[in-house]
Amino acid sequence: MQLSPRQEQIVAIVKRSGPITSQQIAAELNLTRAALRPDLTILIMAGILEARPRVGYFLSSKPTQALVAEEIKKIRVGDIKGLPRVIRSEASVYEAIVSMFLEDVGTLMVVDANGHLEGVVSRKDLLKAAIGGGDLQKMPVSVIMTRRPNIICTTPEEPVLAAARKIIEHEVDALPVVRPVAGSPPKLKVVGRLTKTTITRLFVELGEGNH
Ligand code: ADP
Repeated sequence: MQLSPRQEQIVAIVKRSGPITSQQIAAELNLTRAALRPDLTILIMAGILEARPRVGYFLSSKPTQALVAEEIKKIRVGDIKGLPRVIRSEASVYEAIVSMFLEDVGTLMVVDANGHLEGVVSRKDLLKAAIGGGDLQKMPVSVIMTRRPNIICTTPEEPVLAAARKIIEHEVDALPVVRPVAGSPPKLKVVGRLTKTTITRLFVELGEGNH
């Protein structure tokens, strides 16, 4: 359920000052009680507010789906992103494998000398190279990586919900978090990463009320 701006205002007032009468809420919003009534009815039916005679309106103690959804929509990638885990494109496939073990990650972002994104290398890319029979010490990672412009990225400002949808739709484990850098052709500076684990951690924190 999508709350209207006025309904969000009402929830914020009740959160701050509840229990509060409809008269007091109306006064804060410069409205009449009659104008407020439909929104209060909707918020009660949605299970977000509760009302008690002679006490007033207060936030429902039951966590409601609408409120959880509202909370999730406010979280941005920048709030939860992890540190970038990168490897230079000239590094060998062998070095990429070692780095994946040392850093304990499943995806490495491949960058140039300036930290600009060139591609992504995943576990399966490395396995494929390993069973391919070439010399892994000599083969540069740039040969086997998935490269720009085919990389699905996110930005610190993007809502986590939209980024999580990209992970599902494109069936990947991780997204580089990037900032565009002025220039031609346009470059992307890697500033972090968002993985399935990052999202799972957020899910647990939200479920336990710690976020
Ligand atoms: P795994 O290899 O562990 O299954 P993924 O499912 O993330 O990991 O990777 C599958 C393929 O998608 C690999 O070839 C990888 O290079 C590519 N890939 C991984 N992340 C991205 C991304 N953000 N954008 C585009 N391609 C990606």
